[in-house]
Amino acid sequence: MERYPNLKESDPEIYDLIQHESEYESTTLKMIASESYASYSVLEACGSMLTDKYAEGYPGSRYYEGNEFVDQVENLAIERAKLLFGAEHANVQPYSGSPANHAVYRALLKTGDKVMGMPVPSGGHLTHGWRVNFSGIDYEQVPYGPNPVTGRFDMNVIRETAKRERPRMIWVGATAYPHKIEYKDFAEIANEIDAYLVADIAHINALIIAGVHPDPVPCCDVVTSTSHKMLRGPRAGFLLSTVEDRFQAKYHLDSKFNLAKRLDRAVFPGLQGGPHLHIIAGMAVAFKEALTDDFKNYGVQIVKNAKALADSLLGKGWRLAGGGTDTHLLILDFRNEKFTGKDAAIALAKSGIIANFNMVPGDFRSPFITSGVRLGTPSLTAMGMKEQDMELVANWIDRVCKNINNIDQHTKNIRQEISEFCSKFKIPGIRE
Ligand SMILES: *Cc1c(COP(=O)(O)O)cnc(C)c1O
Repeated sequence: MERYPNLKESDPEIYDLIQHESEYESTTLKMIASESYASYSVLEACGSMLTDKYAEGYPGSRYYEGNEFVDQVENLAIERAKLLFGAEHANVQPYSGSPANHAVYRALLKTGDKVMGMPVPSGGHLTHGWRVNFSGIDYEQVPYGPNPVTGRFDMNVIRETAKRERPRMIWVGATAYPHKIEYKDFAEIANEIDAYLVADIAHINALIIAGVHPDPVPCCDVVTSTSHKMLRGPRAGFLLSTVEDRFQAKYHLDSKFNLAKRLDRAVFPGLQGGPHLHIIAGMAVAFKEALTDDFKNYGVQIVKNAKALADSLLGKGWRLAGGGTDTHLLILDFRNEKFTGKDAAIALAKSGIIANFNMVPGDFRSPFITSGVRLGTPSLTAMGMKEQDMELVANWIDRVCKNINNIDQHTKNIRQEISEFCSKFKIPGIRE
């Protein structure tokens, strides 16, 4: 079936570029850990005429008339989010993950307050207090990160830092941490110092839904997430929280507004104007898909695939940060090699394996070249790949890294093999 017939006619330049990207993604292994594939249904909702709609406010209290149907769209997205994660409150209006996190700062803190979070080189997100981001400019980051030797969180060190610095809020969440995060341990620390605990599950939401990763909802004040990445929804963010604020009395907060209300007000009118109803519709569709057993199986398989890939690479003598994975991602550790993470990422991409270079714990190279490559399995899992397929993927990665000094002699063959391999799988949103 011809996709986008109108676009093809009216704007062939953009149409062709979309076709090229789609061809590229169909013939390469997409191993960017933060990507996966949205379904046709999600794409259709996002491409609908709801894109024109203005509905500032929240369902039932808008600043515009004519919202009978979009109120129902947003309510469905909210109810499905609450059901999916077992949360008391949900806000589905943040334009993306970063604005969702921004709203949390505005709701819970005053400018200049201390926030505990991981710096970007340790695997944190920009919005967790990194210096070039609003969060590091307007708030004071108290940094923590995995132990440089073990690659894992050392809760005693984190507790000492928290007790010494007494941040008002603690971020727990990462972009490049290959192990499970024990939210309960962080909650204990947050309780000891009366800090808000906020989990950022952008990278791992599907693993939580599938029950293969600890659940932050029961022990965190707020949980933030993207609806894209492994959740396979539209590019947007959402917030989950309790309704009441457990520090309402202690911090003498305005009794008119509980936690849910303060988060909502921080999103609109605090930071944003009109909600993107076409995207919220796509989010509702993605949440419905995520409530199915198929989706849970996908979440389980993501981890099985990552483990199979890790075992295969370890078996070939490669080193992994933290020794392996129990999530969706692994980080090849090239500190002992002459080539850098960047060299490897470029060689892999030429050969048809798309990934990113990444710092490893204890890295001595600069963040612009690094000693690591981060590999994720969500996209390959969405295509239907299983453990035995990961062995083939590991073979290609091994061949690229072993031949990195004369990689140009090998890329043509490897790319061809990978392209043929990919053609055996469906790709959601691209090819049935
Ligand atoms: C991706 C990500 C975000 C931000 O999402 P954007 O939609 O890119 O703004 C926030 N936190 C974490 C941990 C992420 O991985």
